[in-house]
Amino acid sequence: MSRLQPARGTRDILPDEFPRFAHVVDTARDVARLYGYQEMSTPIFEFTDLFARGIGETTDVVSKEMYSFLSRGDEEEDRQSLTLRPEYTAGICRAFISNGELRQQLPLKLFAHGPMFRYERPQAGRYRQFHQIDIEVLGAPEPECDVEVISVAADILDRLGILPHCVLKLNSLGDPASRAAYREVLVGYYRGHQSKLSKESLDRLERNPLRILDSKDEGDKAVNANAPSFAEHLNEASRSFFDAVRAGLDASGIAYEVDPALVRGLDYYTHTAFEFVTSLLGAQGTVIGGGRYDGLIELLGGPPTAGIGWAGGIDRLVTLVQKLEKEPPALERPVAIVPMGTAAEQRALALARDLRRADVPVELAYRGNMKRRLQRANKLNASHALIIGDSELAKGVVALKDLDAGTQEEVPFDEVVDALGDHALDELMSLVGADDDEDDDTR
Ligand code: ATP
Ligand code: MG
Repeated sequence: MSRLQPARGTRDILPDEFPRFAHVVDTARDVARLYGYQEMSTPIFEFTDLFARGIGETTDVVSKEMYSFLSRGDEEEDRQSLTLRPEYTAGICRAFISNGELRQQLPLKLFAHGPMFRYERPQAGRYRQFHQIDIEVLGAPEPECDVEVISVAADILDRLGILPHCVLKLNSLGDPASRAAYREVLVGYYRGHQSKLSKESLDRLERNPLRILDSKDEGDKAVNANAPSFAEHLNEASRSFFDAVRAGLDASGIAYEVDPALVRGLDYYTHTAFEFVTSLLGAQGTVIGGGRYDGLIELLGGPPTAGIGWAGGIDRLVTLVQKLEKEPPALERPVAIVPMGTAAEQRALALARDLRRADVPVELAYRGNMKRRLQRANKLNASHALIIGDSELAKGVVALKDLDAGTQEEVPFDEVVDALGDHALDELMSLVGADDDEDDDTR
């Protein structure tokens, strides 16, 4: 492959797509703010050991998808194994343990976003560098918190216009006691069907039997069809926790389906596991996934602290938004400055800065003859052209041309910012149906 291609599984986010990408992040940030979440970020690489322990040695992510490397360093002891983060949860829990001040403000409600790295087979909706929005709440063991984080996700999808095209799948993995009991029942069941299991599932039988439940292998699926269900092995405490989560979702008007096969990758999930899945993105249909991980912070060496969170794939969300979009978002229209001659071009530079300082987007047309420059203004979809030639310079004015109406007027240099500002205000007022003259009566 040519060295001028991006590395396999990575991609450029070009200007065409970028506004949608930013829109997903901005929408998530806005909704998170409404729920009182604070934004933060953690390093893109951490010690490998953090992810190995924080995600679990038996998971796909740790056993085969991590980008790990030895750090540079003259001293042997500096050359530790580092890993590009494959997800946010472990890093945020590490930050919680490293930064004592974070522990003074429980529950800690956090929003983050950024690139993640996993060595996966690239395909539509699956990259080696991808991007996530992420929500975590630390120090809130109540089922109300599960309802809240799911509600944040639903509201983000709603604002993006894609909630009606997603199904919320929900399951409970119980507390550690239920989980251990169920695990034993499950291993017993699979032992009785060993000859029908795939090689991968046989490998998982001892290490991580729950993961067999979401196997895509046809033979495994047939065995799974009659597997004992987790729901029947939840103890009293776990069952009432799950009931409370469901009641909260019902009361919030958030629809869901209980899916007993939803186990998700992490080893340390407890109680609630959930995913928002769409049928519009083929095999890569999960746009948001998360769950509760009450034992994780303690396992990493911190004080026992409940945790719950989710991560959403921005790349998949963007594709889904784009798929459902009727028209691409309109770009803001600039004003084009069309100077003719060296002196006018110099004058135009200062005017352009003044306008941009007043928040007016400006393009300078400085190539070719007058006709070419005006054509350029039209091509940029400019609302106005500010034409400056020798005669305008001599009079201290610009010719302000309304490119939609085709009208033109002379405006003194020092009134241009006001004129364009006023024009923008007029347009805004006519949009909201107000009469801006009324402003003069108010004091
Ligand atoms: P999948 O089952 O699709 O592999 P996952 O369970 O590995 O997902 P999580 O670790 O829960 O994914 O990450 C949360 C979200 O991040 C996913 O629901 C998905 O939208 C997105 N995501 C995960 N891996 C990738 C990837 N390689 N490329 C693009 N998006 C991804
Ligand atoms: Mg995966």
